Amino acid sequence: MAITISKSIARHRRRRRVAAAAQGEQRLSPDASAAAGVDVPHTPGRGDPAATAAGSRPDGRAAKVAEGASREPAARMPEGTGQVSRPSVIEVRGLRKSYDGVEAVAGIDLEVRAGEVFAFLGPNGAGKTTTVEILEGYRRRTAGEVLVLGADPARAGRDWRARIGVVLQESQPEDELSAEECLSLYAGYYPRPRPVAETLELVGLADRRTARCGRLSGGQRRRLDVALALIGDPKLIFLDEPTTGFDPAARKSAWDVIAGLRDLGKTIFLTTHYMEEAEYLADRIAVLAAGRIVAEGTAATLGGRDTEAAVISFTLPPGMFAADLPPLVAAAVSDDPGNKVLARTPSPLPLLGALVGWAQARGIDLPDLEVHRPTLEDVYLQLTRGS
Ligand code: ATP
Repeated sequence: MAITISKSIARHRRRRRVAAAAQGEQRLSPDASAAAGVDVPHTPGRGDPAATAAGSRPDGRAAKVAEGASREPAARMPEGTGQVSRPSVIEVRGLRKSYDGVEAVAGIDLEVRAGEVFAFLGPNGAGKTTTVEILEGYRRRTAGEVLVLGADPARAGRDWRARIGVVLQESQPEDELSAEECLSLYAGYYPRPRPVAETLELVGLADRRTARCGRLSGGQRRRLDVALALIGDPKLIFLDEPTTGFDPAARKSAWDVIAGLRDLGKTIFLTTHYMEEAEYLADRIAVLAAGRIVAEGTAATLGGRDTEAAVISFTLPPGMFAADLPPLVAAAVSDDPGNKVLARTPSPLPLLGALVGWAQARGIDLPDLEVHRPTLEDVYLQLTRGS
């Protein structure tokens, strides 16, 4: 419960920071921010386009950002990480963040390349939000180098923010405006917005375009959040637990929307607690535990998942025992409680061949025969155990 409340306060603060930027409210000075537990490294003016992320409430008087804001990343860190086929959109070296001397982020390195969906996983309190807010420019780091779209987020200006879309976990759209009006309003803050109708289509809200934001269902609100993050045609989109609370069908259609963003060439930085979401969407995954990256890879290779032994399981007919199995299978049996057999092997095919041949020769059926590979969740739980 304590975690839920403190996360909710933290998210409320984050929404407030975003909203304040959009409204052009007086930003807290760093000293005052620290005293208030709010960590604001820069002071954008009215109409800061980054603040037109979902959840913000612009005052309609915001100045448009400068033309020519949209450009490819120019600055690069001197030493690359080797995989340079596509330009880096995010580069992080030795990132640290301490709160009152306690390290929430304890020296992490990250690289996210253009056009990929990068999933950032980790248990509650691992440091994900802290890291993401540093990347978004909403939180100040203690140490380390950070480049996002070629700029240091702590010092980047409005043109940089126009190239970033942020979808927060909770939103506050303009309840009295229609979805279409709301998007049109936000489109006005960007130098080169996407067409409103096309953006509504993209997120599957075309048939709800005249519905008031306040009357949209939870799932439709999340689609509107994505549309709001997209309307400025950003290069990089941060998605913070985008499908929390969705029913399975709504989650699947949200995944289709996110996959569509990748097809548009957007780079997506996704935080999620759903392993199947990461598995479905992510090109690469990093797992954070207690402020450190403990594994990085694809869904298939993370934490050595591809090389972990497979488990073959089946039930022997009454009167038969593990010792009756062909030698190749018998040698791999790790457990045989009763007549249920578990056999572990790094290469299941030869063992399966021997087992099937043996069973067929004896006219035996093995109706519950299964091959299990460790799931992403198995690997994740192993990696984060005790953190
Ligand atoms: P969750 O999955 O619950 O969202 P998280 O991985 O996003 O967690 P963070 O919110 O980054 O984790 O928190 C990392 C650690 O830093 C936690 O121990 C948290 O209590 C602490 N922390 C976060 N924000 C502050 C703050 N403003 N002041 C002090 N400690 C903080």
